[in-house]
Amino acid sequence: MLVSEQQIQDKTAELAKKIAADYPTDGRSSDLLLVGVLKGAVMFMADVARALPVPVQLDFMAVSSYGSATSSSGVVRILKDLDRDIAGRDVLIVEDIIDSGLTLSWLLKNLASRRPASLEVCTLLRKPDAVKVDVPVKYVGFDIPNEFVVGYGLDYAERYRDLPYIGTLDPKVYTT
Ligand code: 5GP
Ligand code: MG
Ligand code: MG
Repeated sequence: MLVSEQQIQDKTAELAKKIAADYPTDGRSSDLLLVGVLKGAVMFMADVARALPVPVQLDFMAVSSYGSATSSSGVVRILKDLDRDIAGRDVLIVEDIIDSGLTLSWLLKNLASRRPASLEVCTLLRKPDAVKVDVPVKYVGFDIPNEFVVGYGLDYAERYRDLPYIGTLDPKVYTT
């Protein structure tokens, strides 16, 4: 185990407080829109949405980044796009983890071209390599070591998403 259920809960509350302070409800024409990236961000997004004292709307994108099972290439394909137009909206991308940052940097460019009023990122986890690429991430839960993690939405071959905590996966599982 790397991050416990309790640690996730405490961090979510802390991040929600910051987010709520940055998006006061007065003077805004529409609710903050949380954009979750399927499927990994589902658990985190559900918890952030419920921890936020401000009203939010939810939408989802599914993307596939070509690459091996445990690293991404930066070539991204949209499998499911947003349901609604985000022009003029305050948009907060909710991510499970940023590793190389390639997926996120592609996503930021893609969503920015749709002219939202604002566009920020909230991620539960960030790995060391992510710091090297220039992707602005306003809200970060935990900086973790460069290990492959699973749980709380994160999978290996679609397994372990249902774990309530974040754990590292024994390399034996994916090298043999
Ligand atoms: P990036 O493009 O930043 O390298 O990777 C983004 C995506 O790769 C994440 O949203 C996630 O789906 C996957 N990913 C990166 N690191 C991990 C990891 O340690 N565990 C799991 N399960 N997925 C990861
Ligand atoms: Mg993700
Ligand atoms: Mg995955």
